[in-house]
Amino acid sequence: MAGTGAAFEARHWGRDLKIICVEKANIDRSGAVAQGLYAINCYMGMQWGENQPEDHVRYARNDLMGLVREDLGYDMARHVDSTVHMFDEWGLPMMKNPKTGRYQREGKWQIMIHGESYKPIVAEAAKKSADKIYNRIMITHLLMDENDENRVGGAVGFNMRTGDYYVFRAKTVIVAAGGASHIFKPRAVGEGMGRTWYAPWSNGSAYALPIAAGAKMTQMENRIVLCRFKDGYGPVGAYFLHLKTYTQNANGENYEKKWYEQTKKLVGEYIDHHPTPTCLRNHAFVQEVMAGGGPIQMVTKEAFQDPHLETVGWENFLGMTVGQAVVWASQNIDPKYTNPELTTSEPYVMGSHATCSGAWVSGPEDISPPEYFWGYNRMMTIQGLFGAGDTVGGSAHKFSSGSFTEGRLAAKAAVKYIEDQKAKNIKVSEKQCEDFRKIIYKPLENYTVGRNEITGGTVSPSYFSPLQGLQRLQKIMDEYVGGITVNYMTNGNLLKKGLELLQWLQEDLEHIGAEDYHQLMRAWELKHRAITSQCVTEHTLFREETRWPGYYYRGDHMNLDDKNWHCLTVSRRDPKTGKFTMEKMPVYHIIGDEEKKKAS
Ligand SMILES: Cc1cc2nc3c(=O)[nH]c(=O)nc-3n(C[C@H](O)[C@H](O)[C@H](O)COP(=O)(O)OP(=O)(O)OC[C@H]3O[C@@H](n4cnc5c(N)ncnc54)[C@H](O)[C@@H]3O)c2cc1C
Repeated sequence: MAGTGAAFEARHWGRDLKIICVEKANIDRSGAVAQGLYAINCYMGMQWGENQPEDHVRYARNDLMGLVREDLGYDMARHVDSTVHMFDEWGLPMMKNPKTGRYQREGKWQIMIHGESYKPIVAEAAKKSADKIYNRIMITHLLMDENDENRVGGAVGFNMRTGDYYVFRAKTVIVAAGGASHIFKPRAVGEGMGRTWYAPWSNGSAYALPIAAGAKMTQMENRIVLCRFKDGYGPVGAYFLHLKTYTQNANGENYEKKWYEQTKKLVGEYIDHHPTPTCLRNHAFVQEVMAGGGPIQMVTKEAFQDPHLETVGWENFLGMTVGQAVVWASQNIDPKYTNPELTTSEPYVMGSHATCSGAWVSGPEDISPPEYFWGYNRMMTIQGLFGAGDTVGGSAHKFSSGSFTEGRLAAKAAVKYIEDQKAKNIKVSEKQCEDFRKIIYKPLENYTVGRNEITGGTVSPSYFSPLQGLQRLQKIMDEYVGGITVNYMTNGNLLKKGLELLQWLQEDLEHIGAEDYHQLMRAWELKHRAITSQCVTEHTLFREETRWPGYYYRGDHMNLDDKNWHCLTVSRRDPKTGKFTMEKMPVYHIIGDEEKKKAS
């Protein structure tokens, strides 16, 4: 989404620039929107006075327990409606409210669409804008300017079908490679392996590429856990908001109320905020299951008696998560007669949903305080390197439309960066490109040599497979960094041990083997997941509080601590040593308290 938005907007401002878009899959059906969506989750409706950007900032701030980059959120929100109006113009079927003629609201921020073809529609805009779209190329590394070690010079990768090596020399690079799934052990293993909520191909490249180059990252501890329909990960938004279904424990009780006092002791007045922050609703769910109140169910039997709502309930999955309908069919669940089970997912890392992990970027010049502004909107701490969508940290609740919008904002600034002559005299030598080529294809060599040592079966003493490596990573993250098997619990000692194990994994990744180009992609996906995981673990260790119970718990610091931790965490990995340094950055509440009071 962010990449397509960037390609579109770059052409608007940079008529005579060469714009290329590089995509790991095929842009028509790639990314988190590949299968389609049933709602656009971020639309203000300013033309009808429904919401203002300030309202959205307050909403995101509340949901993230006070910690967001309000400059970035405001900037996205003030532009997002224009993006949605273009989608409408381009032919995306929008549902309309028959009484008002306005877009059909699903909730305060969401509007409903027939979105099976959402991705091909926005991809068409990118295809018409870019000079060339390169599909099936996985970017593995950023090229850096040899005249200025903090300036980007392009990117390299390989074609997963032909194996060809690609070098893209560029004046600016916008990273829009989605979030990170499968860094924590998923609930679906064995026969269900690969089934996940966030897109399985979102492998953290968005974070690994800038981290490896030395860009600063923010809020990487702020992983997300989602309450979803069990086994199919089917989304619940339309059910809660449009169908007005609700949850209950096995005894038919409203369990959320039961955990109010306990939650208040942990987070104080945040539990009284409206709407209840997503993590705190998760917290009640997790506590109730641990106390033996499961299974937690979504009460669908009432809503599904209305034939219209029944249709909406099924269509919601058919346009977005067909797998959930299949799971229900296989388990003999008709939500008209059986209340389906819910579960909490394994954690994901992403910057566009109800969390805001990602790159530390400059905000817009008109509203960002000095600590948040260094020249070009959405530029990272590396010159010429921009980010958008899941890549960018601090600005939650962008979703599909906000990610596309952020791509547009980044592209506009990137064009200005070039026009301001900031990209002159970039030096990328043949040697730099050749060195990366050797590194990229090493797993193929590891396999070719190592397989000769196999005396029986497939296990080699000299290499391990991407799948073996992935499972090892997921086990470390799950057990030490707060995954599902420990009910999202971790502490300083576990995190330190986790970092040690991740470091050994990094060393062993030199010996990963790939038998073909597809496995080579898997190898690089794993390497990107591993470096992302290191960053997540460092951040989780640094923040000595439990800011988002329900997303994860620091057992040694179980309370929210506004006195010491009402701040953003920022990290940098030194590309030469691989060591991370951490710092606190202030949270500026740009939308004032007066307005906040009025809104609540
Ligand atoms: C199940 C589900 C339901 C959702 N429901 C909604 C909804 O109802 N409404 C809504 O508004 N939003 C919804 N979202 C959120 C929305 O999809 C995301 O916010 C949005 O897609 C993020 O945009 P992005 O550009 O950052 O990432 P993506 O759209 O995922 O794009 C990332 C792209 O980068 C590519 N890529 C990754 N690594 C590399 C690499 N190394 N080299 C080259 N290319 C690479 C990927 O193939 C992909 O095309 C949902 C997401 C999911 C998963």
